[in-house]
Order: sequence, then structure tokens, then C-alpha cells
Amino acid sequence: MSRVALVTGGSRGIGAAISVALKNVGYTVAANYAGNDEAAAKFSAETGIKTYKWSVAEYDACVEGIARVEADLGPVDVLVNNAGITRDAPFHKMTREQWKEVMDTNLSGLFNMTHPLWPGMRERKFGRVISISSINGQKGQFGQANYSAAKAGDIGFTKALAQEGARSGITVNVICPGYIATEMVMAVPEKVRESIISTIPVGRLGEPEDIARCVVFLASDEAGFITGSTLTANGGQYLT
Ligand code: NDP
Repeated sequence: MSRVALVTGGSRGIGAAISVALKNVGYTVAANYAGNDEAAAKFSAETGIKTYKWSVAEYDACVEGIARVEADLGPVDVLVNNAGITRDAPFHKMTREQWKEVMDTNLSGLFNMTHPLWPGMRERKFGRVISISSINGQKGQFGQANYSAAKAGDIGFTKALAQEGARSGITVNVICPGYIATEMVMAVPEKVRESIISTIPVGRLGEPEDIARCVVFLASDEAGFITGSTLTANGGQYLT
């Protein structure tokens, strides 16, 4: 029987590439999303991957959503915490709502999704928790005090939980992508995009598939000795 993978924010952008890559190597995949029904329906029709709508920012919704996934597909073996948002503003203009929304989704979302799945993974003595942080959680970014704080928090969460999961066959890792050519990045003016690319040693933006391949590796049995690790995938833009 194939393993079950649940990808949050799995119907668009990097998450969609992760869902497809996992499906292509044999996982049964569930893709969660927040509200964009049209994109989710299109994704599901094109890929055959089932989509599930709830917000990772709400604990009870996660419990209920995970129960739906597990009733349909069986216990979740691989959790990919990919859902994320930005609410950028220079700090002197940042509102409490902008702070809270980003923390609720990008940091508390990891607690809300991992906590309900953790007891089952411990019982079954197998689990993979893979979270998508960001280069900006490693280096900080002007206008992103909220996002950088949340994404740095994802790394701390991973390092702590890796220690707790190790004896139960659960690995916990985090990936820090650099700039990836998703709709968001491709929407910035070409001149700005060119100036970003000029700071990336490999000379190009990342593709969603570059990150998806990292996830497939970390989810595999072959990666069983890797836990608590931060995998940087940024074309050499920031070296840790
Ligand atoms: P997109 O904006 O393209 O897609 C985000 C996905 O997350 C969507 O499926 C969206 O659902 C979902 N989502 C947002 N909020 C919630 C929520 N509260 N509950 C459930 N799902 C939610 O993002 P990207 O693909 O660009 O980014 C994916 C991850 O990678 C994020 O964590 C981001 O921070 C990180 N990242 C991205 C980089 C980039 O260059 N793009 C660089 C570094 C990190 P819906 O479709 O319903 O809106």
C-alpha cells in the first residue's frame, strides 16, 4: 500500500509541484488549500489529486480536516507544511493584524498541523515532517519582520521536534527556498526580477520543482538518517 502524504497549500505554486512530485513517485497525496476553490478544482482535474479546504491557521479546522483526509486515504505518513502568506510592510507601518496573520499561518500553522498527526506517527513508528521556511527566515528581509520571524521560528520548531521524534522513526526537516519562479515572483516588474537574479550565483530563479525534489528526497526511506536539518535551496544566494 502506498504511503499517504498531506501537503498544505498543495494546490498552487511550490505546493502544487510538491504534490505532483510525491504522486509521481507513488504516494497517495492530499492537497490542502485555504480558499481559492477555482485553482484547487483546476489542479485536481489536471492531476487527479484530491484537494481539501481548511485554514492551517485554525487548530480545530486542522483536526477536522486531517480526520477527513485520513477517513478517505488512511493515516498520514508524510506531512509537508508548505502553506504560507506574506503581509509585507516596513515595521513602523506594520499592523498587529499583519503580524498576527503571518504568525498564525506561517508559524502556528506548523503546530496546528503537526500536533494532531504526531501521536499517530509515534504509534506507527514512522513519520516525515517537512516544512517550507525561506531564505528570508535565515537572513531577515526589509519589510518582512513578521515573515522573517515566523520563518526563523519554523527552523527552531524543526530542530526541537527532530529530537523528540528521532526514537519513534519520525524525521523532521525544514527547507529554505530562495527566490522561486511562482506567480508571486513572476508578477514583479521584469527590471526588479533581473536585479534579484543578478544576486543569485547560479544566474536564475529557482523552479517549484527544485523544491519539490528536495521534499521527495527528505520523505524517502533513504533520508532516514537526516533529521533536524535545514536544507538550503537558493542557488547560492545566501550561504549558511
Ligand atoms: P503561493 O501563494 O503560490 O501558494 C500558497 C498556497 O498556500 C496556496 O495553495 C494557498 O491556498 C495556501 N495557503 C495560504 N494560506 C493558507 C492557510 N491559512 N491554510 C491553508 N492553506 C493556505 O505560495 P508559494 O508557492 O510561493 O509559497 C509556498 C511556500 O514557500 C510558502 O510557505 C512560502 O512562504 C515559501 N517560500 C516561497 C518562496 C517563493 O519565492 N515563492 C521563497 C521562499 C519560501 P489558496 O490557493 O486557497 O490561496
